[in-house]
Amino acid sequence: MKGRLCLLLAGLLAAGAVLTGCAGAKSASSESSQVFAMDTVMLLTVYGDQAKEGIDQATQTIQKLEKLWSATDETSEIWTLNHSEGDWVDLSPETEQVLSRSLELCALTGGALDLTAYSAVQAWGFPTGEYRVPGAEELAQVAASIDYTQVELNEQASQARLPENMSLDLGAVAKGRLGEVLSQQLKELGVTSALLELGGNVQTVGAKPDGSKWRVGIQDPASQEGGYLGVVQVADQAVVTSGDYQRYFEQDGQRYCHIMDPDTASPAQSGVDSVTVIGSDGTVCDALSTALFVMGEEKGIQFWKDHPELNFEAIFIAQDGTLAVTAGLADNFTLADGYQNREVTVMER
Ligand code: ADP
Ligand code: MG
Repeated sequence: MKGRLCLLLAGLLAAGAVLTGCAGAKSASSESSQVFAMDTVMLLTVYGDQAKEGIDQATQTIQKLEKLWSATDETSEIWTLNHSEGDWVDLSPETEQVLSRSLELCALTGGALDLTAYSAVQAWGFPTGEYRVPGAEELAQVAASIDYTQVELNEQASQARLPENMSLDLGAVAKGRLGEVLSQQLKELGVTSALLELGGNVQTVGAKPDGSKWRVGIQDPASQEGGYLGVVQVADQAVVTSGDYQRYFEQDGQRYCHIMDPDTASPAQSGVDSVTVIGSDGTVCDALSTALFVMGEEKGIQFWKDHPELNFEAIFIAQDGTLAVTAGLADNFTLADGYQNREVTVMER
């Protein structure tokens, strides 16, 4: 099992590869499991006496939230909301909570995060894989149907509604929120050490069983083999990357990625190849990885300066290969072998 896990870590994880998962025998008892959900491979490793129960509960939670939140499953709450023709739709507490928090983050990011960008995601063919470049007129129409302020949420009644011509999805926040929920559940069970690799999102629970920090690799966007160019050391935090190399298509020499600029209804082109956000709140990290990718480095750094209350750090990898890391990472981020000559700027508040 250990060998297979190493292969999976090396081959399948899109962004954050955990570098010590395979090294050496595990002294603490642990359970690992692989789950395919939310369009990605998830690897769960839980340590300690509650490991088996923790994995079982986590697997059930993943399946439950995927069923509620999928934009393409016709039985999900999000699909129902998108097809309710302007009527109120009943929400589970799980969906109500993630929508409420995400809409706050849409507002905080000035709409760089906009859940209703889903119309653009659809127009470019991402959900079906039938990729296309829409014309200018169509894009103007789609852009007019992107506006998170039109989403109405009645928290008392646990209901939501959308104007008829709008659609939303939770793709930008779902895995981060999932990591947060799983982390809370595991802690309630008494788990003090776990590693949840949810596609490009890594959620750590506590530190490693030996008390040292987890070492999470930051992928080199330019590497075909998924090599990592640096390492962050974290405990009890999420490490979330949004990149233009994760899901994209190419046409006429141009790369179109799955992260949309809500203003243009087109793939964001802000000069960055990836943004990694590190912090204690997985939902915030996921929301911001997407939003800061849309903003680009300059506006993204300004956002970090303006929002210390969000308690996050970030790594920007520009298209020219240079790196900018926020001050809180100065001691926790190191370049990997082969990347020692990369230019890294530490941004101060
Ligand atoms: P991933 O989940 O693939 O790791 P992200 O967290 O950046 O990457 O989320 C991207 C997904 O979020 C897209 O596939 C799409 O469904 C949705 N999305 C794209 N652009 C935006 C945006 N500006 N705001 C909110 N959601 C978006
Ligand atoms: Mg995100």
